[in-house]
Amino acid sequence: MNKKRLILLFSVLVIIVAIFIVDITNDDNNFSDKPEKIKIITTIFPLYDFAKTIVGDNADVSMLLPPGIEPHSFEPKPSDIIKINKSDIFIYTGDFMEPWAKDILDGLDNKSLHIVNFSDRLELMGEDKEKEHHFEDVNTEKYEHEHEHGEIDPHIWLDFSNCQIIIDSISNALIKSDSANSIFYASEAEKLKNDLSILDDNFKEGLNFCETNTFIHGGHYAFGYLAKRYELNYLTAQGFMPNSEPTVKDLIALIEQLKEKEIKYVFYEELLSPKIAKTISSETGAELLLLNPASNLSKKDFENNISFIAIMEKNLENLKLGMQCQ
Ligand SMILES: [Zn+2]
Repeated sequence: MNKKRLILLFSVLVIIVAIFIVDITNDDNNFSDKPEKIKIITTIFPLYDFAKTIVGDNADVSMLLPPGIEPHSFEPKPSDIIKINKSDIFIYTGDFMEPWAKDILDGLDNKSLHIVNFSDRLELMGEDKEKEHHFEDVNTEKYEHEHEHGEIDPHIWLDFSNCQIIIDSISNALIKSDSANSIFYASEAEKLKNDLSILDDNFKEGLNFCETNTFIHGGHYAFGYLAKRYELNYLTAQGFMPNSEPTVKDLIALIEQLKEKEIKYVFYEELLSPKIAKTISSETGAELLLLNPASNLSKKDFENNISFIAIMEKNLENLKLGMQCQ
């Protein structure tokens, strides 16, 4: 064997040994006793954003709703149900926002799944007197279809004091399921609650001195909680669910209100067709402004990691412009 061949043989041997060592090290990693992260599944965007903020890198959070999908018409696929069954914590709004949830949860065989929802923890706006208050200066007959007996407004996250309770519930579930990180979860939840309380103050202050306290929305009735909290007069042509077409009579009533109150802007929703808002705009010359209920995000906003608070800050900016606040 000459010298050259000997060097070549030696090199091959070195490579084989190196591969073997790398292999062993990888196996070591695979068999490390590091505990698996807990898995959290949420339905709508605000719950996803809050959970993700509280857990940091300590748990895996995923959103069931694909970005860009209108949440009221969402139905989970069989693969979604399997995913929920394999998770540790499932967080949804309640039986009015996710009417499909109860049956699915009843059928799961994961008995240790921690289920969090807010139906019983928060006061839901419904067919009570509260909502009529916002229509007190409107001919309520024209809006009667929105007040059908038993209708419940599920958009609870649009009252930021409700968000405080939502965050506490999520944080409590995390602390129970993953006590090793409980101090981290509690402190992140406190920080988030503080940020939301600042947001709430900004809304209170920002919407205090305005030319009008009425905002007209071409989307579905999603901002009832927000209107109630900041004592605003909120007018839409649709009900709580976005699938109802407004009648011509309702549209004319809205247009009359807009003209009478000399309102210069009409709001539209991102994930729904802005048809109604555009009709109002072309009839009155009112300009269009986005008002985002944040129940879900567009694909672009999701990819850009937009936060719930950032969306609400943009809503505040647009409301201030739309109602001409100081
Ligand atoms: Zn909605």
